Amino acid sequence: FRGQITLDGPSGTGKSSVARAVATRLGAAYLDTGAMYRAATVAVLDAGIDPEDAEAVAAVVAAARIEVGTAADTELVQVDGVDVAVRIRGAEVTRAVSAVSAVPAVRRRLVDQQRALVAAADAVVVEGRDIGTVVLPDATLKVYLTAAPEARAERRAAQLGLTTPEEVAALAVDLRRRDEYDSSRADSPLRPAADAMIVDSTDLDRQGVVDRVVELAQS
Ligand code: C5P
Repeated sequence: FRGQITLDGPSGTGKSSVARAVATRLGAAYLDTGAMYRAATVAVLDAGIDPEDAEAVAAVVAAARIEVGTAADTELVQVDGVDVAVRIRGAEVTRAVSAVSAVPAVRRRLVDQQRALVAAADAVVVEGRDIGTVVLPDATLKVYLTAAPEARAERRAAQLGLTTPEEVAALAVDLRRRDEYDSSRADSPLRPAADAMIVDSTDLDRQGVVDRVVELAQS
């Protein structure tokens, strides 16, 4: 395979593990754009500014050196030379990342960087929310990964160690609310590109989804 595969969709669809596995199977590079927004959020938190203060956020992110690796089998994420690969997955960053990624200047900067990283690769799988619609509108293959909110809530609950039906139901309500918010953004819509292949993972395990995407890439 040569070219670019975009993998977009909401959280809780297993997107990251699918994207890495597809890249490994195809011998392609892998770019996790969510990790870049999370790294930008680390810079904002460390600067001690309010993540809702768009102007301050834009200034801090413009000055930060954000580096991510593009190998599918390692996770390299650095801010100003400091390894933040573990920290970006923490609750503090997860809480603030939506506000940081809503700032247009942050998106412009990271989208430019994403395009430059992609241009350096013969074959690459790029994972995010707006890759097929905004970042790489001419990608070779666009995949939009969906799953029923209940299935996504169950996966997320398992990750968090929550078990009661009430806890899972509350997560499903929260996922729905975030989907609606993300879908309504004009600058980086959470919706499939017109030419995206929709893959529904509700009734597929991870291997089934990986097989389907690889099959699409090779057809
Ligand atoms: O995919 P992940 O959960 O790591 O993404 C973290 C956050 O980064 C998302 O909730 C979203 O706010 C933002 N994001 C984005 N555009 C992307 C990828 C992620 O706005 N292409």
